[in-house]
Amino acid sequence: MSEHIITFNAGSSSIKFALFSIGADGLLRRAAAGQVDGLGAGAHLKAKAADGRVLHDAELPEGDRVGHGDALAAILALMQAEFPQLRFAAIGHRVVHGAARLSASTVIDDAVLASLRTLVPLAPLHLPNNIVGIEATRRAFPGVAQVACFDTAFHRGGGFLSEAYALPRDYFEAGIRRYGFHGLSYEYVAGRLAELAPREAAGRVIVAHLGNGASMCALRGGRSIDTTMGFSALDGLPMGTRCGAIDPGVLLHLLETHGYDAARLSDLLYKESGLKGLSGISHDMRELEASQDPHASEAIAYFCACIRREAGALAASLGGIDALVFTGGIGENSARVRAAVLGGLDWLGIEFDPDAQPEGRGDRVISAPGSPASAWVIATDEEAVIAHHALRLVRAGVQGATTASIAARHTKASLP
Ligand code: AMP
Repeated sequence: MSEHIITFNAGSSSIKFALFSIGADGLLRRAAAGQVDGLGAGAHLKAKAADGRVLHDAELPEGDRVGHGDALAAILALMQAEFPQLRFAAIGHRVVHGAARLSASTVIDDAVLASLRTLVPLAPLHLPNNIVGIEATRRAFPGVAQVACFDTAFHRGGGFLSEAYALPRDYFEAGIRRYGFHGLSYEYVAGRLAELAPREAAGRVIVAHLGNGASMCALRGGRSIDTTMGFSALDGLPMGTRCGAIDPGVLLHLLETHGYDAARLSDLLYKESGLKGLSGISHDMRELEASQDPHASEAIAYFCACIRREAGALAASLGGIDALVFTGGIGENSARVRAAVLGGLDWLGIEFDPDAQPEGRGDRVISAPGSPASAWVIATDEEAVIAHHALRLVRAGVQGATTASIAARHTKASLP
């Protein structure tokens, strides 16, 4: 009987999952994937087998009342019905924040779960969902190793200069740091680029993860040395509904002069800004591209200008670039955004002809042949990274948990 790994990626209103079988050769093969959308408002479960066969595409019973735990139970029941021989070697969870304490993927024990609970104030919109998912699968499969993979972990190790804000040093010690996010996506892209273009991957690479959430990362030799997101997933590029970088003076002004409180500010910065706020139409790039409204084109132009500006900053961190990679829903699918970005980056040595784009949709080079620096489209696969880490950790035993738990005891937790 072959063993399986299932991965969960719990967002505020959705849970994505992927099921992998572990072959006799020890390699992971995707067996099924899907998601529950619309949690709290008509939850809908979609799942497909790896061969494209639809396993489920319908609203769950009592859809309005389905929470994260119920959605996980529905996914697990469907997988058990479709794959009767199912036996889990591990269950992997994407966890948005590990802070400085949890700086590598880890097997989840009670101490790790307790550490995660203390980190909720750092990511109040996302971490509670991750924790609910972990608790639910621990209850359902008490004997199976649960592994947490952190979006922040890939960026750790840069040290004080890359992680500190210019606040008094005690704030850094208390955890007010630039953490960076989308690390699982960057890790996947770094590995995939090493297969496609080993020379470039060993050098200086900028990756633009452009989806509903968006950030960019500078990689040297496949390791993150700089990224546009910081303490929270708000910084850097404007996103679907998030504002991106903003002068903190604006926030003080809204608090002091316009009577905003933290909840109103949080709604503004996380839910009402970005492409949605700029366009007044939608957070969704497809809708903006289809719109004739000048505010839609202006929002797209603003987004692309920010990407070009951040590319310049990251190129300065790297001392030039050998390759730039687009990934995420927008990066992988929007030829318009890619053309607008690359049209302004020829000074970085990327020769690009928007009218001579290669056919096809797979991972591909999109710069001109002979371009000094190359440009790529690579479809990200965060689930594959989670499954890989889960397999690696269960094969290695539970040492991963011990390392992370020890690190957890060495970070001061209170502000000065
Ligand atoms: P993600 O969060 O990575 O799933 O990306 C979601 C974003 O990708 C949304 O803004 C979508 O509109 C955008 N997107 C997906 N497909 C396309 C497409 N064919 N053209 C333009 N944008 C797309």
